[in-house]
Amino acid sequence: MDNACRHLSSVLTVTPSARGCEECLKIGSEWVHLRLCRTCGHVGCCDESPHRHATRHFHATRHPIMEGYDPPEGWGWCYVDEIMVDLPDTTPQDGPIPSFIDSAF
Ligand SMILES: [Zn+2]
Ligand SMILES: [Zn+2]
Ligand SMILES: [Zn+2]
Repeated sequence: MDNACRHLSSVLTVTPSARGCEECLKIGSEWVHLRLCRTCGHVGCCDESPHRHATRHFHATRHPIMEGYDPPEGWGWCYVDEIMVDLPDTTPQDGPIPSFIDSAF
C-alpha cells in the first residue's frame, strides 16, 4: 500500500476567508462541519452538510488539501489521494464559529 501524499508539501499558512462556510453564509444555509482549504484559506462545509461546499471548492480549484476546522484538530484530507494526512500545524479559528446543525438550541 502506498499512502504517501505528495501534496502535503504544498500546504500553506492561510488566513480563513470567513467565520463559517463562505457560501452558506451568503445564501443563509446551514452546515455540519467546516473544512479549511490549506492552499487559499477558503472555508467550506463538509460532505455531511447539505451543500458540500468544501468538495465543490476542490472540484472548482483543484486545491488538494483541506483541514478539519471546527475546531482545528490537526488532521487534513487530501482530495486527490483520498486519504487523511497529518498536518504540520493547525490554523487557529478567528473567534467562535457557530455550528448550526450540531448545536442543540
Ligand atoms: Zn495528496
Ligand atoms: Zn457550505
Ligand atoms: Zn482553495
